[in-house]
Amino acid sequence: MNKPDNAIDISIIGAGVSGLSTGIRLLEAGHNVRIYAESISPNTVSDTAAAWWYPFLVEPLEKTNRWSAETFNELVRLREEEDVSCITMRMGKEFLEEECQVPGWSDSIPHFRILDDEEIASGYAFGWEIEAPVIEMQIYMPWLMGRFEELGGEINIVKINSISELPGEVLVNCCGLGGKELCNDHDLEPVRGQILYTTQDPGFGRFDQRPESLIYTIPRRDVTVLGGTAQRGDWDENIRDDDTEEILAKCESLWPELDRSKIVGMSVGLRPSRKEVRLEIERLPSGKKVIHNYGHGGAGVTLSWGCADEVARLLSSMMT
Ligand SMILES: Cc1cc2nc3c(=O)[nH]c(=O)nc-3n(C[C@H](O)[C@H](O)[C@H](O)COP(=O)(O)OP(=O)(O)OC[C@H]3O[C@@H](n4cnc5c(N)ncnc54)[C@H](O)[C@@H]3O)c2cc1C
Repeated sequence: MNKPDNAIDISIIGAGVSGLSTGIRLLEAGHNVRIYAESISPNTVSDTAAAWWYPFLVEPLEKTNRWSAETFNELVRLREEEDVSCITMRMGKEFLEEECQVPGWSDSIPHFRILDDEEIASGYAFGWEIEAPVIEMQIYMPWLMGRFEELGGEINIVKINSISELPGEVLVNCCGLGGKELCNDHDLEPVRGQILYTTQDPGFGRFDQRPESLIYTIPRRDVTVLGGTAQRGDWDENIRDDDTEEILAKCESLWPELDRSKIVGMSVGLRPSRKEVRLEIERLPSGKKVIHNYGHGGAGVTLSWGCADEVARLLSSMMT
């Protein structure tokens, strides 16, 4: 590929969905990009994502609504134009305890409607239906890595102890929860998520995504993902039997036909949660600039392409 005259040498920290999507965008813009990551797929948090498009546990809304909408469009484009078949479109119903304003992103997706009274699950008062992308991350993550390398990107498996040690004219930091140590970021904390997999298909997804209750059944092509938990400050990556029981009971409340004998696996991941996603430029004492892109909480997949585009925009603004 011919590089433009203004091609920049860029180092990215992280090979989760944020680092890989950002890397792809920057390579597409003609830059030279290397990734440095302590862990790569299948050993990142991104590999654990359920992964349903839904802006969950993430702020600030005025930005995340735009980044989610941009990601929605890109996921649909990848599916339709590039045949990325691990992205499928599924219907889901969100149930709420009381009537509320519709979310700010609702008018940016093609299918959003308020549920009729008779469609609302027992114990709830309101709800909406959306059609959204759902992604099999065990296929999507290797696809992202393949696309990144095909475009000329290079991946180095190494732990970075200090951002300033990295080579490159510009650094991009997509380190997820690693920012706690790497950036001494006290605003970042894990929100533990445990999920189960079943071969049973509920037909459409059922959701109650208040963090304190958190129920979801996400139908994918391979399995349905049952969740969940959102345990703030909890670093435990082991499966816990009490959580398994609680997830099953919660899912049965929305999906009484759930057959426990069809459970085929379980997983745990730590969401990189922050009061707000950190997507900004920082100038290091050396004068070198870092664009941070981490802290995507429970919506890193949902925000991935929108945030990658935002990094590319920030980079262009730095260069003019
Ligand atoms: C159970 C569960 C279900 C989820 N479901 C969904 C969903 O349905 N939809 C959705 O949108 N999101 C979902 N999420 C959230 C999503 O998984 C995360 O927001 C997303 O994976 C974050 O991606 P990331 O690339 O920023 O971080 P990560 O995937 O954690 O990647 C971070 C990368 O940085 C590297 N790194 C960190 N520190 C260093 C260092 N010092 N040196 C070198 N490398 C370093 C790591 O090795 C890794 O490569 C879910 C999460 C969980 C746990």
